[in-house]
Amino acid sequence: MLDEIRKTLCLPETGVILGVDGRHVVTKFYPDITGTTKKNNYVPDVRKLNEIIREWAATEIAFIGFVHTHPKGAERLSSCDESYAKKSKKLARCPKF
Ligand SMILES: [Zn+2]
Repeated sequence: MLDEIRKTLCLPETGVILGVDGRHVVTKFYPDITGTTKKNNYVPDVRKLNEIIREWAATEIAFIGFVHTHPKGAERLSSCDESYAKKSKKLARCPKF
């Protein structure tokens, strides 16, 4: 699953939402291909992502957060990124992402 997610994150700045099953295992992801990138700023397509999250909820897949890429040269996590990743990791039984 992690390799599949990495393959979708090849664009300069984009994001992927993550979903877990009843065992809290990441079993779903959706690349935000309709999100936009504006000058060092990724803007998720919230309307589309909410639609996907609602579809997942109907099949008992819970949204736990999303991962995103940074532009070239910005290779460190921001403090918000670290905080957000820790919260998402607590919701999933995933050793690293
Ligand atoms: Zn970031």
